[in-house]
Amino acid sequence: MFDRVAILDWSASGAPKTGKDSIWIGVSDASGTTSRNIATRTEAEAAVLALAHEAIRTGERLLIGADLNFGAPAGLAKHLTGKAEATALWAWLAERITDDARNHNNYRAIAGEMNATLPGGGPFWGNGSKTDFDGLPRTKPALPDWLAEHRRCDQQSKAEGFAPKTLWQLAGAGAVGAQSLLGMPMLHRLRAALGAECAVWPFEPIEGKAIVIAEIYAAFIGPDVRALEARGKVRDAAEVELLSTAFWNLAQTDRLSPLFETDVDTALLREEGWTLGTGHGPALRAAIPASQLPPRLRDDCFAMPQGVSWVPVDEALERLRTALAPVTGTETLRTATACGRILAADCVARRSNPPRPNSAVDGYGFAHASTKAGVNRLPLVAGRAAAGQPLAGAIPPGHAVRILTGATLPEGVDSVVLEEDCATDSASVTFDGPVKPRANTRKAGEDVVEGAVALKAGHHLRPPDLALLSALGIGEVTVHRPLRVGVLSTGDEIIASPDRPALPHQIYDANRPMLLALARQWGHLAIDLGHAPDRPATIAGKLDRAAREVDVVLTSGGASAGDEDHVSRLLREKGTLSSWRIAMKPGRPLALALWEGVPVIGLPGNPVAALVCALIFGRPALSMLAGGDWTAPQGFTVPAAFSKSKKPGRREYLRARINAEGAAEIFASEGSGRISGLSWADGIVELPDGAAEITPGVPVRYIPYASFGLT
Ligand code: AMP
Ligand code: MG
Repeated sequence: MFDRVAILDWSASGAPKTGKDSIWIGVSDASGTTSRNIATRTEAEAAVLALAHEAIRTGERLLIGADLNFGAPAGLAKHLTGKAEATALWAWLAERITDDARNHNNYRAIAGEMNATLPGGGPFWGNGSKTDFDGLPRTKPALPDWLAEHRRCDQQSKAEGFAPKTLWQLAGAGAVGAQSLLGMPMLHRLRAALGAECAVWPFEPIEGKAIVIAEIYAAFIGPDVRALEARGKVRDAAEVELLSTAFWNLAQTDRLSPLFETDVDTALLREEGWTLGTGHGPALRAAIPASQLPPRLRDDCFAMPQGVSWVPVDEALERLRTALAPVTGTETLRTATACGRILAADCVARRSNPPRPNSAVDGYGFAHASTKAGVNRLPLVAGRAAAGQPLAGAIPPGHAVRILTGATLPEGVDSVVLEEDCATDSASVTFDGPVKPRANTRKAGEDVVEGAVALKAGHHLRPPDLALLSALGIGEVTVHRPLRVGVLSTGDEIIASPDRPALPHQIYDANRPMLLALARQWGHLAIDLGHAPDRPATIAGKLDRAAREVDVVLTSGGASAGDEDHVSRLLREKGTLSSWRIAMKPGRPLALALWEGVPVIGLPGNPVAALVCALIFGRPALSMLAGGDWTAPQGFTVPAAFSKSKKPGRREYLRARINAEGAAEIFASEGSGRISGLSWADGIVELPDGAAEITPGVPVRYIPYASFGLT
């Protein structure tokens, strides 16, 4: 249906501008998708016209989408021009709006003039400049009762959960009024220049037209745009690239035509226009290939089967393991600087280690075949083989040569005798046989053979790994970008920082510094999202910000199902909450959800439970998200230094440390608010799910903090 799609992200900037919130054009065709940034409307108009002319010249069909309102809510065009048609409004504006090559323009004055012809002081309002304009109010005026706030297509988008702005609003975040007033004259000129080759949808039939121009709205693919933006792409670039790809892909597979069908009255369409894709958001998003988006979790990844009440720890861990996948992009680093990073690709040995057979000791080398049991006396050849100083030429059979540790074996040498086991004069060497074949030598590739996988994707690089990779000639590694872990505390009683005064009923935030430090020690980028009181709107605002800036959010507090558990309530209403009731102590439900596609792990508020849940569930979960292997802490079986009668039905974690006798002692109180016990401990004792009768000397599983990556 179309050979090419160009998407124009328009702008009302009053001066040349690039980057965010400026003009971008995205183009998709059979060769792929590109985008470019244009500083002025004049240049952008020329660029669009050039694309159109090229299409006409090559006989290709071009769809041009522009993100501005093609019409006003019904009534304005008729009122101003006598004709209930958007194109009449375009002509009216084209006569009055001036917009020079430096983006200087008069749209505010013209909006004021339009307002002056209507009762009520509006409909246009909003002024982002310091100068006042006659007839243009800064705040929202009342509308005459015959003018709607929104066009019909925008009303439909609102009903579908989008938040389209009205043409009337000229300033403020997300406003489209100004760019529409500056865009309609541009559309008017484009249409005039292209004549019969072009049709503007939905005003004219599009059949057989080389160029089709239509209004588009990036919010239809909003989550995908935000996902790219969160990973550093300019939002406008993401919008035009993803939209042009989506429309182009739909066009190639015959799925675009339904988007051009509406059952709305044609008279209304001619006056208000219609946004291409209204009601088809899911189809547009489905037409964006996964390869163009950052990795993302499935919406239902945390779902628990119905009827599951208490989940044993091991089952919960297994569910988490299968639910999670890497969400970070990758980059290439010098091996020497990659410690702490997670490999995103297998590392293949570029050469063998050792590359050639060499000597493991300082001594004398010879061919094994020419030695015997009893005393051997071999004449020495001149010269010596040392590490980095190979000896050229072959050693004749029955001869020996001086050789040092690490030296490549000269030709004719396959065995070495240790110098301490020899007697020598300058002409010969004497030693006792028999000597084992290949004695004191290292085979080529005995450590790693060229071409072998030395380290697998998912491996967390530690200092010894850098030695291995470097030895194998691997100077660069593909690693995951660090996982950005946001940490948010919630609770009306929480005071964010010990530097601030606290009333008797208030407590200082203990969890946030702990969780931030944990994330850092696990090799992630820790991002402090601060503290939110138990107000859903504030928590939602923090999560919105987090969704743009981090890859995963750890919250603490408010995660249970009670009245005051605002985090879980919010996640249930607006996210995709799944509360996992895990059979463990300490720990209440673990709240798992996606917020704008970003995983949220809701930890309990009690610091003891928050730490235990973070160690047991948070650590492996973050490792998976970061692209790493699933991690399981290493535990040790040690005698108990305590007594405890444990009931069956849940796993228990006790704050513990090893005493002077090598036995595990536990903190005096199990109270989950006792933070001092966390600090007293050096690890935790894990008691099994079943019943257990622990008395001193009974073996228990002790997991040191260090096994959880804590230092
Ligand atoms: P919640 O999970 O919100 O019901 O909180 C459980 C307990 O943990 C309450 O006593 C809270 O006051 C406490 N708590 C919650 N968040 C924190 C925090 N960040 N630091 C210290 N204590 C907290
Ligand atoms: Mg609370």
